[in-house]
Amino acid sequence: TEFEDMFLRRELLMGIFEAGFEKPSPIQEEAIPVALTKRDVLARAKNGTGKTAAFVIPTLQQVDVATKKIQALLLVPTRELALQTSQVCKILGKHMGVQVMVTTGGTTLKDDILRLSETVHVLVGTPGRILDLAGKNVADLSECPVFVMDEADKLLSHEFAPVMEQLLSFLPKDRQVMLFSATFPIIVKDFKEKHMKDPYEINL
Ligand code: AMP
Repeated sequence: TEFEDMFLRRELLMGIFEAGFEKPSPIQEEAIPVALTKRDVLARAKNGTGKTAAFVIPTLQQVDVATKKIQALLLVPTRELALQTSQVCKILGKHMGVQVMVTTGGTTLKDDILRLSETVHVLVGTPGRILDLAGKNVADLSECPVFVMDEADKLLSHEFAPVMEQLLSFLPKDRQVMLFSATFPIIVKDFKEKHMKDPYEINL
């Protein structure tokens, strides 16, 4: 498969090629077409496989920039990964006019509140801060159709688990979940059973 065969919008394809991606990596080849059908995806993926673009591309394809609402929540365990992931969204979405916001702990809540009073289509961040913003009704996730978890094994570990449960209650019931993880401990399997519906599983 080629990116051209994936029925992606032209503006997104331009961003992909400008980023220097010529052909989809194996995980992209498998994940993107399935994710575009809105089916849940659960993928075992390590860093360096192109996993970020494997969820960013179908996420961006599903964003309608004319709708001024948060349409995708990308959750990651660390500030560094949040910054990297939002960069990938901005690069690949460069020609779409998509508004990407990144938020993590350690910055002032006030700046986030100000930013969220303007349009945000894709919200990238770490669980604690996102829960804070959702709980304060500053970030409206009630109609957010796309929910991505990267490094889910870390997101579901002890420190985050209760936060994750609460966060899910702010998302709509019929959301699409894309879960990426290097390992599949019991906590990830439990999450799959409890919160995902008929996920397409990728094991590369
Ligand atoms: P990741 O596994 O998401 O951390 O990506 C690893 C590296 O591969 C990053 O530097 C990406 O920019 C690059 N990359 C991702 N997808 C492709 C692709 N289809 N073609 C070439 N490089 C890619």
